[in-house]
Amino acid sequence: MTVPTIVLKYGGTSVATAERWQRILERAAALAPTHRVWITISALAGVSNRLDAGVDAAVAGEVEPTLTAVRDAHETLADALGLTDDERAGMRGLLQDLRDLLSGIALVREASPRLRARVMSFGELASTALGIAVLRRAGLDAVRVDARDLLTTADSPDLPDATRLLDARVDPRHDPAAADALAGSARVVLTQGFLARTPDGHTALLGRGGSDTSAALFAALVGAERLEIWTDVHGLFTTDPRALPGARLLRRVRYREARELAAMGAKVLHPRCLDPVAPQGIPVEIRNTLDPDGPVTRIGPDGDDEPAVLAVVARRGIPLLTVRTLAMWGAPGFLAKAFEVLARCGISVDLVATSQSAVSVTLDHVPDGLDGAPMTRALRELTALGEVDVLPDRAVVSIVGRSIRAVLPTLGKSFGAFAEKQIHLVTASSEDLDLSFVVDPDEAPRLLRDLHGRLFGTGHTAPWLGPSWGRLTRPEEDATPAPRWWRARRDHLLELVADAQPRYVVDLGTVRDRAEALRDRLPHVGARFYAMKANAEPAILRTVVAAGMGLECVSANELRHAREAVGPEVPILFTPNFCPVDEYRAAFETGAEVTVDGPDVLRLAPEVFRGRPIALRLDPGLGLGHHEKVRTAGARQKFGHPMDALAEMKAVADGIGATVVGLHAHVGSGVLDPNPWSDTARTLLRAREVFDAVQWVDVGGGLGVVERAGQDPLDLDAMDRALAEVEGLGDVELRIEPGRYLVSEAGVLLLPVTQVRKKGGVTFVGCAAGMNALIRPALYGAWHGIHNLTRLDDAPGEPVDVVGPICETGDILGRGRHLPTTHPGDVLLVENAGAYGVVMASRYNLRTPPEQVVLEPQ
Ligand code: PLP
Repeated sequence: MTVPTIVLKYGGTSVATAERWQRILERAAALAPTHRVWITISALAGVSNRLDAGVDAAVAGEVEPTLTAVRDAHETLADALGLTDDERAGMRGLLQDLRDLLSGIALVREASPRLRARVMSFGELASTALGIAVLRRAGLDAVRVDARDLLTTADSPDLPDATRLLDARVDPRHDPAAADALAGSARVVLTQGFLARTPDGHTALLGRGGSDTSAALFAALVGAERLEIWTDVHGLFTTDPRALPGARLLRRVRYREARELAAMGAKVLHPRCLDPVAPQGIPVEIRNTLDPDGPVTRIGPDGDDEPAVLAVVARRGIPLLTVRTLAMWGAPGFLAKAFEVLARCGISVDLVATSQSAVSVTLDHVPDGLDGAPMTRALRELTALGEVDVLPDRAVVSIVGRSIRAVLPTLGKSFGAFAEKQIHLVTASSEDLDLSFVVDPDEAPRLLRDLHGRLFGTGHTAPWLGPSWGRLTRPEEDATPAPRWWRARRDHLLELVADAQPRYVVDLGTVRDRAEALRDRLPHVGARFYAMKANAEPAILRTVVAAGMGLECVSANELRHAREAVGPEVPILFTPNFCPVDEYRAAFETGAEVTVDGPDVLRLAPEVFRGRPIALRLDPGLGLGHHEKVRTAGARQKFGHPMDALAEMKAVADGIGATVVGLHAHVGSGVLDPNPWSDTARTLLRAREVFDAVQWVDVGGGLGVVERAGQDPLDLDAMDRALAEVEGLGDVELRIEPGRYLVSEAGVLLLPVTQVRKKGGVTFVGCAAGMNALIRPALYGAWHGIHNLTRLDDAPGEPVDVVGPICETGDILGRGRHLPTTHPGDVLLVENAGAYGVVMASRYNLRTPPEQVVLEPQ
């Protein structure tokens, strides 16, 4: 055949309905004009399991339920496809064979692996018998090829039949002529996954998940241009997307990396299926049948060289075995003896760590389980070598990537996720592809979430990282829900800076919408306080108060300013840090609820706190957020009181008659994962064991906003669901104190362009203000969208660096931005500037900070 071949593989769900067959037809029709299309399919979803169980049922004498279920599945599909009796004849003939086989088994009451393989082959033979009719009916020049005529097993005849026939291995070969001989000149070939034949002519199965491997073997056989694996997800993800919807699609990986991911638990791909295609460098694409034009994972010989973390995965239910002995000191052969025992008992080992006096291993496969005879025997024999300890159900959390050891320095901060976790074992794979940690099973979900958030969360971009699962499965939700209110008000904004002075502009309508969202979508939160440090504009304070919020202040000046703006009645929390003692006094006087970071200030100024209700800020030990400098918890951070010193605080408070009525924690800022607040609440509630007069717990702010494409917005409903699951929250008032969430998207910074200059290949667009107006890019490396408001709809030109007028190398607002060709006098708009913008502006270089203009809701 002279045209190139593309091999397509469709799994059970992708062939189970008429709508799904429509997708197959569309793909085949699109490729057939230029390629031969080689389609490998599985049995209809559920049929293989049904047949497997049907063999056991037949051994017990029961045949009809299996036949009825299997027949119904195929006839229902045939009905939906509108197939005629003639078109169903092949499938019905196979059903008759199945009846004969099962009846025979029922008669003799036993089934050899050979018979089981024949029964199970019915699934693929029948799905292709229907499928060929569908393809031909659509006018495609299609032929059905029996996979067994092309794939011959390569297992040694000495192996047990159960392996040789039910979990068989086929060596890849390149033999296009053999394929051509069977397929002839047909443009579309339909064949079965999962099936092969032994050299002595018996039907054999490739083992579960073997259809991927079949397709890869066909791709190797014909020397395909590409293998497409069509399934119900877009590809490989940075973690299990069903557990963490923030999981990001991996756009491209190398064979080795994909194999490791599959072996570590990425179920979308069978680990074995890359072996046949890798030697020929045939690229593999994983594609979603439900989103045929959506993004994909591409697996191939080439990829990115940069060392990188690609995924964080967890496996559960893993036994950990440790043998400890002092005799290991310099004793040759100890390890060999221990492994020999395990091998003799058929127990396979996965991760291994050794010390001077112990060896720890995770067990991969234990025949008959931990209570079975082989394990009992192994334990007995190992006891002769030393003290043996088995932890039955541990979890392995692995960081998978390429050149993982070279990534270690950048992982430094991520290891904060391991604070306070018991780690039983750490290993690095010899291929430098993964780092694995054995932890207690309860720790795994949180650890996974923390690590994933740190490694792939807010602002993390790389060419190989695609959209998140959440975005892919909810495409109707805009990726950047930023209201972009400013587009509609462009002319007005340009007028506001007609005098060429930089200005902040804040839209109160957006602030109001955010405040109402917090009120309406977080029913489990009892009270909401606006952290006014984010933006202290009086009109903003009044807007959030009108939506039922209190205010959170951190200085005496903020307190005064708040009272002036919203009056004496509005609830205020005072949560300062290392402030002068007088400020606490002022706070009590103005009616605020006062939070302290520990007992020291009570000792320093007992008269201020004597007999008063107070709140205690705790340090839950783990900070989160978009940058190290906004993570406010953890042993080295200055905030909060440690969880292990509660009794000391209690004693000091009791000593002056102060009562701890509130517990507080704020772990960081810019968090898009909906879960940390419920974790914080659980931690705070633990402290109630010591502070029994607690009436409220405040889980802080930190609610993040989308700052750049590819991020998922914080899902408030998911956050509320997570809070609803926290036991004991019903007895206290739950509080939050967000800042950024309310004002970030509401504010923009308008920057008149002063000069445009090219130097050494870089175009600098200079603005009337820079880090003096907005310090976040310089301080945190924060990313702000930048637009040319004057030329909003012009096509983007060459990338430019947007800089300010300050005498600092770091005075850069954005590098490599694709703005339309920009000229002096144009106005740039910096997005997401409503939070921590104007309030952090400085007079550096004696430049006047920009004023802030407030726009009333429209
Ligand atoms: N509460 C406290 C104690 C804080 O320190 C902060 C921010 O630094 C916030 C609330 C508000 O954080 P965000 O603006 O990220 O919601």
